[in-house]
Order: sequence, then structure tokens, then C-alpha cells
Amino acid sequence: MDEHGNKVIHIRPPIVVRDLATRMGQRPHHLLAKLMELNVFATPNEAIREDVAQTLCERLGFKLEIERRGHAPAPRKPREADSATEVAAKPTPVHLVPRPPVVTFMGHVDHGKTSLLDAIRKTDVAAHESGGITQHIGASVVTTPDGRTITFLDTPGHEAFTKMRARGAQVTDIVVLVVAADDGVMPQTIEALNHAKAAGVTIMVAINKCDLSAANPDRVRKQLQEHGLTPEEWGGETIMCEVSAHTKKGIDHLLEMILLQADILELKADPKAPPAGYVIEAQLEPGRGPTATVLLKQGTLKVGQAVLCGPHGGKIRALINDKGQNVKEAGPAQPVKIVGLWGVPDAGAELTVVASEKEAREISEQRLAELRRGTPTAGPRFSLEDLLRSAETGEVKTLHLILKADVQGSLEAIHDALTKLSSDKVKLEVIHAAVGSITENDVLLASAARAVIIGFRVKLESGVSEVAKREGVEIRLYSIIYELLEQVEESLKGMLGPEVKETVLGQAEVRQVFELSKGPKVAGCYVTSGRLVRNGRVRVLRRRAVQYEGKIVSLRHFQDDVREVKAGMECGLRLDNFDAFQPGDILECFMVEKAPPKT
Ligand code: GDP
Repeated sequence: MDEHGNKVIHIRPPIVVRDLATRMGQRPHHLLAKLMELNVFATPNEAIREDVAQTLCERLGFKLEIERRGHAPAPRKPREADSATEVAAKPTPVHLVPRPPVVTFMGHVDHGKTSLLDAIRKTDVAAHESGGITQHIGASVVTTPDGRTITFLDTPGHEAFTKMRARGAQVTDIVVLVVAADDGVMPQTIEALNHAKAAGVTIMVAINKCDLSAANPDRVRKQLQEHGLTPEEWGGETIMCEVSAHTKKGIDHLLEMILLQADILELKADPKAPPAGYVIEAQLEPGRGPTATVLLKQGTLKVGQAVLCGPHGGKIRALINDKGQNVKEAGPAQPVKIVGLWGVPDAGAELTVVASEKEAREISEQRLAELRRGTPTAGPRFSLEDLLRSAETGEVKTLHLILKADVQGSLEAIHDALTKLSSDKVKLEVIHAAVGSITENDVLLASAARAVIIGFRVKLESGVSEVAKREGVEIRLYSIIYELLEQVEESLKGMLGPEVKETVLGQAEVRQVFELSKGPKVAGCYVTSGRLVRNGRVRVLRRRAVQYEGKIVSLRHFQDDVREVKAGMECGLRLDNFDAFQPGDILECFMVEKAPPKT
């Protein structure tokens, strides 16, 4: 405790939100909400600036003491490859420069995601020039004929995408939803669309296989429109391109449209900022040891730097780009494989650069030890009640739900009924609805989108309840529709917050104003209707205009203090902070009650 009774927290930079939350005994999302109040939008695995951490701690009644290693730090010359937080603590100038867009293909299996990516890679001007052979590093950079670059992430499926998001890693700028022109929209198309929507990324559509005679691109457009994606050419906002991975027709146009979309998004990053990014994929490679492909949000990664990828540390021995070439450095949105890690991190783990190998080792050991101990999870992070209570700011509060049911009929019925529960005050949004048991993927989506999962006559796949526990996601299972709807409705009422109801008890007229030697003036009144009560509130009306509203300080009938005076009686009354009464003023007495609101 410090001299003000605040609990002291000692922490070593980088100050990662999750670590700070653990020290405070708080849940990370609670800190994220507090950070938002400070206009800082972070993720649980992100490091925050020291000054921000200080303010946050002060607000929550903690005193933050930043531990420095060794003796008092000698003044150091600013170097680019510096410890993330130490640099962040100094007021660093911002050098925002345009960066390439990061694009992910998503869609139903066999609709041509892999083929499209291959076809696009073959258009890569830089690959032809350098003679480099495309390496599988989890992402690739394609240079268009006009010299601009686009970074494509390999997509093994939307599970990976959502898993990364659930860990707080938002790496994609644009999702290209691939739909085969002959097959049209399929269940996984919808699932992919819902995942992309939940991620809040820009969505474009590639209508693939347009070379086939059975191709019907307009049918695809119509189907997508039914799912909320209206094509630009039909007056909507979604760019939809007709392509064929086989004949390559439309591929150039697709790339142009991606760049156009990127221009609209005005994607920028600071290559001089402290390096920070995410692991896209990682593995143990024979001869190389653990390697990880990373994508930087900001900063420049260089050979020789000490890094942390989640709990694992390392010193960069080599950086390999997607063409298999060794490079000395990589900037924002340029995927590179790091060689020199001491362990294999998870996809989605956060990458930071620290000052020295020693520091990397210390932090890594600390994080690994914490992992071994296991982070205690105290119930769902966003239970229905929690979500409802933790008021999302803004005019309309939105409750996100993921709905799983045993059969299509029930799914539709529940979906419709739930949507009808939305009111102008609370919006109920089903971000994903599907038939079948509750999967790990549903939980990850819920975690990423802060949603609650509602299951109707379905089971949880094995292992799902553990994941839900770990991710702090609430799953509610029902077998009676009525019960399901009733509970959600009840919760919605809670979300609205109690409604304040006012009951007018009575009125009095001021007949005379008494000025006493001590204290504020007293209004001598006659109760004209109902009653005045001592613990009620009073509104002073003069020619119908409200002069004052507040509490009664004293209420007397002759010399006696009374709890109430009824119609036809006289009384003397003092108000809290108001005594400018005039004869003829009307005093309206009322009570305020909190009533459960109606949706
Ligand atoms: P993914 O599962 O979405 O990655 O789909 P793939 O890229 O593996 O493609 C699935 C199948 O569709 C393969 O047999 C491809 O040859 C075929 N395919 C992909 N794109 C096209 C296309 O533009 N035209 C035609 N006719 N077939 C395609």
C-alpha cells in the first residue's frame, strides 16, 4: 500500500493489458473498457504506454511502479530498434506512411479460394523479376504491374481467422468472400460472411468459376443481397467481381478493386514506431528450430533484435520473406518468417521487440511460468447478464447472439422470434445461426464478437465447454422455445436499465413567505390536493414554469415536524438550496421509483 492506501503494483515493461489485469485481480476486458474511456483501443495481448498504464492504475485505485532493470537508467540515445515500451514512453513523432492492404479469402470449401490465390500469385510481377520461388510462409505479397503491393494471408479456413481474432489479433483489412458462380451461396459461405461481419472488416466478393456454363453470377448477387450484401452495381456498397481462377479472367480487375478498397480505407502505419505485430503461423522446422511468420502492425523488424512472441522469446537470426529470400528487415504488413525463437508460439500471439536478449528471456520465463500455473478464469467473461449490464455506450445497445438449433425449422422460428424482441432501445443481433451442435468455432466467434451462444436442443461438441470456460464465453442451452424467449426477454429488460417512474402525490400553494432569523426562508403553504410527504421531492412551479426541483429539508404542521400533510391542511416547508418562494407558487410533491422497463 502507498501513503494513500492504494495497492502498489510492480511491473516490468512491456506492460501488456492481460498481465496488468492479472496483477490487479481484474478481468482483461474490464481494463479494455476502462482504456476505451481514455480513448485507447487495445487488445488483451497488447502492450500499452507507460503513461496510459499509470492513468489507468490511478483511476482504479492502484499505484503503478515500473521496474527498471539494473541501476538508474542512463540517458540513452534513441535507437530505432528499442524496447517497445521504453520508446513508447517518450513522445515519439509519428511517421504514418501508406501500407499494403492485408487480404484474406474466405468461403465455402471447393469454391476456389486456393485456386484464386494461386492464380493471383502467378500474376506477381516481383516474383517473376526476382526469380524467387514462392514459399509457404502463411502469407504472400503480390506486386501489381503498377508497382503496388497486396499482402494475402493463406486461409486454411475461417476457424483460424476467428481464432486469431478471439486472441485479439486483428490482422486482416479486407475479406474477399469467394462464391462459386455455379454452386451459389452455401452454408459455409454464410458462416464465413458472419465471421467477417463480426470482425468488422471490409467485405468484398469474388464470384469465381465464371468460366463454367452453369455459372449464374446474378443468382449469387441475389443470394448475397438476401444476406445483407448488396452489390455496388445494384446500388449497394459491396464490390463484387466476376472471376475465373482457371482462365484468369477478371483477376486483374479483382486486384484493382482490392487496391481501390484499400485506398478508401486509407491504410497507414508508422514504420519507425516500436515494432508490434502478430504471429500468423508457427512451427518447428528441421534444421531451423521454431519459426514464426509474423505480420507487423507498426515498426520495422530487423535481424539481431530480441523479440517476444506471446510467451516465447528469441533473438532474430534470420528473416525470410515469402519468396524464400533472406531479408534484413520487414516493415508493416510485410510478412516475414522469424528464425531464432526459443519456442513455438500460437497463431495470433502478439509480437513485441525488447531491448535485449536477457530481457526477452526474463519476460518469457515469467510468462511461461504464468501459463503453467494457468490463468484462473472466474466464470464467463461476457455472460448474458454481464453483457447486458456492461452498457455498451451509444444510443442503441446491441446484444450479439449465436444461435444453434437441432433443425432448420426451429432455427428459423427462434431467429424470427428473437429478432422481434429487439426494440428501438436494444438491438438484438444474431451474428451467426446454424443447425448442428455447438463447436469450438462457435465459441471462438462468440469470444471475438462478445456474443452469447444460445443452443436449442443441441449438444456441445467434446472439449467445447473447456474452450468456452477458457475464453469466458457463456453458452445457454434450452429445450423449450418459450423458455428461451422468456429468458432472453427478461435479460433485455435488464439491459435497458431501470426506468425511472414518477408519481405525483399532491400539490400545495404558497400563501406566505416567512423570513426567519436563521436559515433559509420558509414557505407557508396550503395543500390543495393529495399530500406532501417529508421524503418526497418537490417541484416549484410559477405560472406553470419550473423554478426549482429538489428535496424537502423540513416539513412542519404548526410547530411539529411531520412526515406528511394532507389536502386541506396548512404547512411550513423548507427546501434544499431554494428559498426564493413567491406567494402563488405551486409546489408539486412527487416520488421517484425505479420500475423494471418494458422492451
Ligand atoms: P477451396 O477449397 O475453396 O480452396 O477450392 P479450390 O481452390 O481447392 O478449388 C476447388 C475445385 O474447384 C478444384 O477442383 C479447382 O480446380 C476448381 N476450381 C477452382 N477455381 C475454378 C474456376 O475458376 N473455374 C473452374 N471451372 N474450376 C475451378
